[in-house]
Amino acid sequence: MDTDVVVVGLGAMGTAAALAFARAGARVIGLEAEPVVGHAVGSSHGESRIIRQAYFEDPAYVPLVQEAWDGWQKLERDTGASLLTRTGGLMIGRPEADVVAGSVRSARLHGLSHELLSANEARRRFGQFRWRDDELAVFEPMAGVLRPEVGVRLAADEARAKGADLRWGRRVTGITSDGRGVRVVCSDGGAVRASWAVLAVGAWSNAYLGDRLKLQVERQVQLWFPWEHAGRCTPATSPVFIHEAPGGGQYYGFPSLDGQTMKVARHHGGQVTEPDRLARGLEEDDWRPLLDEARELVPGLRNGPPTRAAVCMYTNSPDGHFIVGRHPERAQIVVLAGFSGHGFKFAPAIGRLARDLVLGGAAPLPLFDPARFM
Ligand SMILES: Cc1cc2nc3c(=O)[nH]c(=O)nc-3n(C[C@H](O)[C@H](O)[C@H](O)COP(=O)(O)OP(=O)(O)OC[C@H]3O[C@@H](n4cnc5c(N)ncnc54)[C@H](O)[C@@H]3O)c2cc1C
Repeated sequence: MDTDVVVVGLGAMGTAAALAFARAGARVIGLEAEPVVGHAVGSSHGESRIIRQAYFEDPAYVPLVQEAWDGWQKLERDTGASLLTRTGGLMIGRPEADVVAGSVRSARLHGLSHELLSANEARRRFGQFRWRDDELAVFEPMAGVLRPEVGVRLAADEARAKGADLRWGRRVTGITSDGRGVRVVCSDGGAVRASWAVLAVGAWSNAYLGDRLKLQVERQVQLWFPWEHAGRCTPATSPVFIHEAPGGGQYYGFPSLDGQTMKVARHHGGQVTEPDRLARGLEEDDWRPLLDEARELVPGLRNGPPTRAAVCMYTNSPDGHFIVGRHPERAQIVVLAGFSGHGFKFAPAIGRLARDLVLGGAAPLPLFDPARFM
């Protein structure tokens, strides 16, 4: 077999995996359906992604996100480009909110620097927000903004520089595998043989996973609203935030990256869809309820339509945790899927996990083991 591994899908996870394999000296081919790197068709676009460490979803993610943070910085050093800005992060809600209680739990368990701020303290420190007396904030200094399109492009460039053969405009239409290797067929009729396939097709994963590993695709809309305080609330001065309402709904926002607008978006609660039937247009329902809610916390957001919007997809696993491991029913295929709306920040660590699964014969992390759904 001439090729060690073929990576299918070159978004955040596929490019990170290709880079990890190439750095390890493996012979790797990457196949991507879209014609351009860093496109806006899947899940890795929209200018900004939050990275944070006091992980409210589960403390088990903390070592991985720390590894990923180092990985992004290494990519910056190796390429001389910038893609990560530390801004600090605020997790805001009532004391029992997941974002508050869960962040404190992870921070304490892993000894992460953090502060639990009362509404009064938060008001003094972060006057750009309007604070409710019944809410608290966890401030974490090691949080910030990642540029997703830049991250994907730099990982792809670096992987190629290390010898990976990455091909765009190649839609994979079939993968067959036996105990010895895989054969991956593209829509143009071309085929690639390799010892292993790494499946990183994001919202399109269901086509390859089989009936027992079904993921849910959820439509999510990123919205940029003009913001009166944008000029002074830049990444140098203002943190990323996630706000959790008493009912449990969460939305998040960024400091202004353009000096004019703030980007806000809901975390979950979107319409369930299929990737090839995704509604990419913007309706008033996509922005009005979120704007009304966000204006409670963020004074100065203009009360009117967003000046920019980008539709994106979450690919949710049944338990909200990632699916990273060998396919339980298909030999020689490693699955990187189900990132459930919180995967981008981890991409360098996911790439390393893929490398270890394939080249090192490592066992999957229990939290991510695909076999948990079988
Ligand atoms: C609105 C939004 C906000 C988010 N915010 C955050 C955040 O703040 N922090 C965070 O950590 N995460 C966040 N996420 C989640 C994160 O962005 C995703 O988990 C991550 O980008 C998923 O990467 P991926 O490689 O799995 O998917 P993608 O980047 O979509 O890559 C999949 C690739 O596979 C290709 N493909 C599909 N089918 C085929 C085929 N048959 N043949 C070849 N190629 C194929 C696609 O074209 C695509 O390029 C957010 C996601 C969204 C949508």
